[in-house]
Amino acid sequence: MARYVGAVCRRCRRSGEKLFLKGDRCFTPKCSIDKRPKPPGMQPRRRPRISDRGMQLREKQKARYSYGMMERQFRKTFAEAERQAGVTGDNLLILLERRLDNIVYRLGFSDSRNQARQLVRHGHIILNDRRTDVPSALVKEGDTIGWRKESAKSEYYKQLTQTIEAKTVSDWLSLDKKNLVGQMVSLPTPEGIAAPFNGKTIVEHYSR
Ligand code: SF4
Repeated sequence: MARYVGAVCRRCRRSGEKLFLKGDRCFTPKCSIDKRPKPPGMQPRRRPRISDRGMQLREKQKARYSYGMMERQFRKTFAEAERQAGVTGDNLLILLERRLDNIVYRLGFSDSRNQARQLVRHGHIILNDRRTDVPSALVKEGDTIGWRKESAKSEYYKQLTQTIEAKTVSDWLSLDKKNLVGQMVSLPTPEGIAAPFNGKTIVEHYSR
């Protein structure tokens, strides 16, 4: 599966806002957008006015970057959201939130979605007691997410057992901090998620 391997901070600078793609670093003065808030590349003398089309594209890219997805995969998720009944923008947000790598991140098992994706890819995570190495796997209501026995012996896991105490999870998730096992107790709702994008603008982008 293709993935972006360039500098992720460029994506924040291109979007013009913090997308929190690098975990703890995003909260330190080392954050690139704090140090260099301008877009990457050569700077025009005057900043061009951004069109509606440009705004829509920017919003879509912001969502895609936040969840670490390539265009083709994102488009497929959008098509699925469109097929479902209800508001497409909300459906899209829920589908993105239900991705296994996102749940691993939301449970506090990783500092960023990129790191969560790597944990899943490397086979450290089990979904309903079965090893799953597909970051895009959709988690269902009632599913449990935990660690493989072998991975629980790793240094990373040991450190996590210390730091997880300070973490809190959304109310649609539950977390057993002693055994590091999480569960999706209910489906996420758009109201319960601080969406990193505007769903309506993305719908407009793809409707053209
Ligand atoms: Fe974005 Fe985090 Fe990089 Fe700051 S440190 S620019 S928030 S990815």
